[in-house]
Amino acid sequence: MNGFRKCLSGISIVILCGVTTIISANAVPAHLKYQKIECVKNISDSSTIGQEFSEVSTKGSSQTALKSDSLIFQKIYAEALLRGHSYSLLGELCSMGPRLSGSDNAEKAIQWAVNELKKYSFDRVDTQSVMVPRWERGEKEQAWFYSEVFTQILRGNRLKGSDALEKMVHGVQFPSSPHPEWECESYLEQGLTPSKRYKMPVAALGGSVSGSVRAGLISVRTKRELDSLGKEGKLKGKIVLLARPMEESLLNTFQAYGGCVNQRVNGAVWCAPYGAVAVLVRSVSNRCDMHPHTGVTHYDPNIVKIPIAAVPTSISDILEYLSQKDPALEIALDLFCKTLPDRPSANILAETKGQMSPEKIIAFGGHFDSWDQGDGAHDDGAGCIHAWEALRILKAIGYQPKHTLRAVFWINEENGLRGGEEYARLSKAKNEVHIAALESDRGGFTPRGFGVDSVLMPGVKKYQAMLSEYGVGLLEMGGGGADIGPLKKYWSSIGFVSFIPDSQRYFDVHHAETDVFSSVNKRELELGAAAIAAMIYILDQELD
Ligand SMILES: [Zn+2]
Repeated sequence: MNGFRKCLSGISIVILCGVTTIISANAVPAHLKYQKIECVKNISDSSTIGQEFSEVSTKGSSQTALKSDSLIFQKIYAEALLRGHSYSLLGELCSMGPRLSGSDNAEKAIQWAVNELKKYSFDRVDTQSVMVPRWERGEKEQAWFYSEVFTQILRGNRLKGSDALEKMVHGVQFPSSPHPEWECESYLEQGLTPSKRYKMPVAALGGSVSGSVRAGLISVRTKRELDSLGKEGKLKGKIVLLARPMEESLLNTFQAYGGCVNQRVNGAVWCAPYGAVAVLVRSVSNRCDMHPHTGVTHYDPNIVKIPIAAVPTSISDILEYLSQKDPALEIALDLFCKTLPDRPSANILAETKGQMSPEKIIAFGGHFDSWDQGDGAHDDGAGCIHAWEALRILKAIGYQPKHTLRAVFWINEENGLRGGEEYARLSKAKNEVHIAALESDRGGFTPRGFGVDSVLMPGVKKYQAMLSEYGVGLLEMGGGGADIGPLKKYWSSIGFVSFIPDSQRYFDVHHAETDVFSSVNKRELELGAAAIAAMIYILDQELD
């Protein structure tokens, strides 16, 4: 790290309280250079000014350097908010539908992105071939539950009057649900009539085998509980519901996600050895609704593969309740998934070449693939568009980086990480020295700050006050991300940065059919792109 700054251009622009004047750099009198930076207070549309910033900082004190940085930040934010491309680009991307690795749709979207990127005249737009796994959901899965107790509840309450159903909804005790008051989209609000069986939405987990089963249901929340029942032989021939909810008291929803996602990833491997015939998993979501949230699951080659699917949180509450009240409760589940041979796909790269050390690369991006539910708007269309827009913004404001800035859209993060692995491998094979990498994979929500590796933190800290002015002053120790992680194998001194937006709504839509363009707020997305552009500027300035 150092504080070196490069003189960027022979032109300087002076802003005198809102009036912009272009004069030769050499002709700028010292007092005007000072005035130039003093007069900038608010974010203004300063698109007409060019590459003037480092004129002052090169020759001035660290204080003037900071003021010059401040001007660059303003330009970045003005470009993002006044002339942003992020929202329309994400809209176009999402209009193509989901981008599951190995799907035709993903390949179409890759082609679209490459064609569009080429219109921006970046120094380089390219792809890297990657073989990706190919799992397909197949025909829409189906599931029902059979419960006489449930039928009695419906029938009995229907007879009691017009408000009885609502009363029943509140009256049914789900004492351990995180949504005891049912302030949610409820199954029982969907006009159910008493019946022999009740259809419920489910989504096969990514990688699941197909299967058609009908069996009784056992519900558990912990691995210990599961093992205990398993050892007693009570899971044999059963479908197991893994019903642990997210811990709602945790402010960081990613922490809550981490506390229960293992039942989704390992559910089949946990339950099959005890003779279970299928697994249902409570969706890993904070919302109480009727949308199943899929996600990757895995099998062990030495353990029999059983079908596994997510159920909506609303349904999980009902099934957990019924599994305790109705010994005759049964579930029927039909999954039609299939795994096909790997197929070629690609990572996408776009670059602005560095002026001083073009051989050194700062990479930043997100993953281009999504699940097949929804359109992957937040996960992780937003992350790719953040990177695309950050690269565009820095070019549009005339910033000439020291190092090569590379936006990367990695493929296959969701169910294989082949893109991230291959990217890192190729970086070493081609001796592309990576000095820093940033990943955005937490959605397009209001930016709050960044996770920053210790090696980068001292340099980044210098800008914390300025970042705070834009609402992104949160600097947590430790950066990283699934796709950039493999780079560390080859570039041990690399520093990682994670983009941190607000996390409260991310798991409402994560891996569900609700992760669509309309769930993304235009300004929040634009602010994210601006924050990342600002961070890339900081890294470029601070790294050797
Ligand atoms: Zn993601």
